[in-house]
Amino acid sequence: MLPEYFIQAIEKQYGAEESARILAGMAGPRRVTLRANRLKSTPEAVADMLKDQGIAFERLPWSQDAFLLPEASERELWRLPAYERGEIYLQSLSSMLPSIALAPEPGRDILDMAAAPGGKTAQMAAMTANRAQITACEMNKIRAEKLRYNLEKQGASRVNVMVRDARKLEDFFRFDQILLDAPCSGSGTMLESDPGSCRAFSEKLVHNSAAVQLQLLRKALSLLKPGHSLVYSTCSILAEENENIVRAALKGAPAAVEPIAFPGMEALPLLPCALPGALCVCPTAEYEGFFTVRLRKG
Ligand code: SAM
Repeated sequence: MLPEYFIQAIEKQYGAEESARILAGMAGPRRVTLRANRLKSTPEAVADMLKDQGIAFERLPWSQDAFLLPEASERELWRLPAYERGEIYLQSLSSMLPSIALAPEPGRDILDMAAAPGGKTAQMAAMTANRAQITACEMNKIRAEKLRYNLEKQGASRVNVMVRDARKLEDFFRFDQILLDAPCSGSGTMLESDPGSCRAFSEKLVHNSAAVQLQLLRKALSLLKPGHSLVYSTCSILAEENENIVRAALKGAPAAVEPIAFPGMEALPLLPCALPGALCVCPTAEYEGFFTVRLRKG
């Protein structure tokens, strides 16, 4: 059973019809997906490897690097040499979207503010062919070790890992691009078929996450160079962690929502979102529920 507080919150936010769509998408299980790691391989080579292994796959219109494996299990993929060598990274489709929305550029100073286990840091390193300087901040020491391990395995060679509370980063830092994939309640990742996926969720976690998210987003806006953009994302579909945080952070700040646009995004299963230009992905058998917004500082 999905938590009662969550069901009430989505009914209030989205209404009966959209809530039924959300709950259907959370019945589970969710398909396995992966990202081809261009630092170690190519999407074409990954496609050939999957064919050789007899693993069925589908491609996604919004990224050459994204693969959907309708019949495979994670366990099956862990055994592949390509997984061991870091040529593929098991990453949910929705969690590939924030880096795509940020569009990291070679030569830039990029901050990944809440980085472990590092799926998006490594994705940004791959998108820039290791030609951007990335600072990956992570508060939790054990998770920071996992981040280091993943970056090494993926070949992300220009990343400086900082084990710090990102809210306390020194004010003299300035970045060209920032990704804030904030700690959240994980409401979008829950599955009815997997009680373990719902265990951590609570009303208190939503409220506590919201408080930290607002502090982190205000800090991100202060660390961003004027004339540049950041992306804020969560794997939650609750306005309290998404739209409300963005509205509160923008109050009095010299920044505004910059609508997200990239080729193929019309294929995404989106929910109505009170912030025009942001993406709120509906949970489905393929996608986790996810929120992504891009903000530009004036
Ligand atoms: N971006 C990551 C990825 O794609 O693999 C996932 C990030 S996860 C949603 C949020 C991370 O933020 C957790 O690892 C958590 O330990 C970390 N975190 C929480 N509060 C933080 C803070 N104040 N400063 C830095 N990291 C923080």
